[in-house]
Amino acid sequence: MNHLYFEYNDVDRRFFEERLEPWLPEYIFDAHRHVQLPEHLDDAEAPFARGAFPDGIAGPESVEMARLGYEIMFPGRNVEMLAFGSPQSNCDCVANNAYVSDEFAGTGSVGLALVRPDWEPQVLLRELRRPAIIGVKPYERLIPGFEGGDASIFDLMPHFQLEILDELGAWLTLHLPRKERLADRENVLEIAELRARYPRVVLVIAHLGRTYAGRYAREGFPALAEDPGILFDNSAVLNPAVQALSLDRFGPERIMWASDHPIFYMRGRRRWEGDRYINLTSGDYAWNTDRQPPQVEATYALSLYEQMAACIDTIFALGYGEAEIEAVFRTNARTKIAEVLARKEAW
Ligand SMILES: [Zn+2]
Repeated sequence: MNHLYFEYNDVDRRFFEERLEPWLPEYIFDAHRHVQLPEHLDDAEAPFARGAFPDGIAGPESVEMARLGYEIMFPGRNVEMLAFGSPQSNCDCVANNAYVSDEFAGTGSVGLALVRPDWEPQVLLRELRRPAIIGVKPYERLIPGFEGGDASIFDLMPHFQLEILDELGAWLTLHLPRKERLADRENVLEIAELRARYPRVVLVIAHLGRTYAGRYAREGFPALAEDPGILFDNSAVLNPAVQALSLDRFGPERIMWASDHPIFYMRGRRRWEGDRYINLTSGDYAWNTDRQPPQVEATYALSLYEQMAACIDTIFALGYGEAEIEAVFRTNARTKIAEVLARKEAW
């Protein structure tokens, strides 16, 4: 059966067999991905869009399609996920949250609620009390009237909402704002403030703090290394040097593998130049201007495979082994989720 957003080919098959199949555990857990139905987006309202990556790679992906994608990409593996809606500015967050909850209740997967910073406490509480919802995924695009530019963490995740998350011991996957990402001093100070004031929140910094290029990791990681309570997902990070720095600075016990699908159904590789990453892809996207000769593009595998191989290769290159792969690809997330689910009984 085919998937709407990618076609699996022989290059993928070979890549999987050579680079992933020998080491990928039987049970894996994707700690950050998006699920949504088309009707969760309001077509009458144009979403905030940048016209750059990842525009055009994929539209909304249902839970059913997500599971089909895993089946095609990871034969013989059992994949569960921590998923949430896609935080477009025109998203009906409540409907998307209800969908995630309905799909995951009674399964091995769990969800986060999209949350708007202007939601009253009782709205946030109602969303958190939905079955299988363990926390929130705020996002700068959900700030009313957001037009780009630098926002504070507390603009997208206000203190009165953090107080509720802290009281419940809920999960927060945080996509860092600001152009300088983890290299931004304000972001680092705000993360420290968040940890000090809301220590019961399970804080997961998405995309290793958006450190897709090396300097953000070099400058940002040391400040977060000393606090073992700060966790990370490594979704969208294809850079092996950044993966290595994260494993070395934080330790494999603080990192969770994640896909950020559906945007990584893209096919190709990344190159890094200074603070930029360049997506080398064969996809017919409006922003795809770095084209390579057809014989080169024909060798591109799924970008998600490149990300996973970067993670696995780095684990071995640093002298770690299968235990750390198991931790990163499954048990770190599972353990933390079990803790939150136990608390959720009292929510
Ligand atoms: Zn994401």
